[in-house]
Amino acid sequence: ELVSAEEISVSSTSGKRPASKDAIVNLDHGDPTMFESFWKEMGEHGDIIIPGWQAMSYFSDVTNLCWFLEPEFANEVRRLHNLVGNAVADGHFIIVGTGSTQLFQAALYALSPPDAPEPMSVVSAVPYYSSYPAVTDYLQSGLYRWAGDASMFDGDAYIELVCSPNNPDGSVREAVLKSRNGKTIHDLAYYWPQYTPITDAADHDIMLFTVSKSTGHAGTRLGWALVKDKDVAKRMIKFIELNTIGVSKDSQLRAAKILKAVSDGYELPVSQNNHRLFDFGRQLLSIRWQKLQEAVKASDIFSLPDFPLALCKFTGEKTGTYPAFAWLKCEKEEVEDCEGFLRKHNILTRSGRHFGVEPKYVRISMLDRDETFHLFIERLSTLHH
Ligand code: PMP
Repeated sequence: ELVSAEEISVSSTSGKRPASKDAIVNLDHGDPTMFESFWKEMGEHGDIIIPGWQAMSYFSDVTNLCWFLEPEFANEVRRLHNLVGNAVADGHFIIVGTGSTQLFQAALYALSPPDAPEPMSVVSAVPYYSSYPAVTDYLQSGLYRWAGDASMFDGDAYIELVCSPNNPDGSVREAVLKSRNGKTIHDLAYYWPQYTPITDAADHDIMLFTVSKSTGHAGTRLGWALVKDKDVAKRMIKFIELNTIGVSKDSQLRAAKILKAVSDGYELPVSQNNHRLFDFGRQLLSIRWQKLQEAVKASDIFSLPDFPLALCKFTGEKTGTYPAFAWLKCEKEEVEDCEGFLRKHNILTRSGRHFGVEPKYVRISMLDRDETFHLFIERLSTLHH
């Protein structure tokens, strides 16, 4: 997500380990560095070598509608969805993007009629992912325009963004608008078994995924879209052609290897238990959520949402929900601005205002490295009513 240089200040934990006990704990953005320790264990299974002469052409597969899509990457995407059962990849076009952030913009472009008298309204139910309004409006496009909370929208033509599980609050969501002329984009960045029970294979018109949240490789800048309609797929591909003439092959080859290692971890008989990414993620996140819940309870200042258990079709077990972000509410009446309150204690979070709600709420990343997370819990435990 959008991180300014100012936010990555030298003294904070952003992108690195805390230097001291009183370091600024930066949990404002969702940098998934928690997964580094898993990939260290994986050793060479996640490595790639690209000879100097390889992957030089603009083109990957001219027989594919998405001509810049590396076939190896596409195969591993389909294999992983079949393994996890979180989305129906068959009958969908796969489109690769520079992060799902680029695919989100490609989808807005593809779903907005070029000749409409008014820009298309882009909406999402509050609390919505803070990048949606900014990314929608930064070029002031004539094609589409941010129109705020989907629940308050009155009209027939719109693009509704459905993020499920939702960033920032982890809730499982469906579209709130139901008009026949309306379009939806399903952002399923967090629909993976480390975060939430896999209850069904999603089968929507446009579904967005990213290695940033599935495997933790945010720096690879690679996402993919599963798209049902051929004409929509074509327009999304056109957008990426105009925007960046395709997507880094180096990144696609790396992502293919990473996704392969994840599937191998479950499918190869010789693989070891410590090669199971989703087990690693769920275990670590469940411990972190327990620690956070204890600290929040002890503080008597904050509250957290509750999540039901559900049968996960991937694990075959009843599992909990361990969102990538904690959506913390400050229950202290005299504190209006929870972000400011935590900032005074050198904890950087993102205010509810960015998500379309009151500043009583803040969003806190649960995906940072152990050192940073522990420092955060330690500091939170010193705050009392
Ligand atoms: N959608 C959601 C809901 C996200 O939380 C994020 C990352 N914070 C993205 C999309 C963007 O992901 P990427 O790194 O693939 O651009």
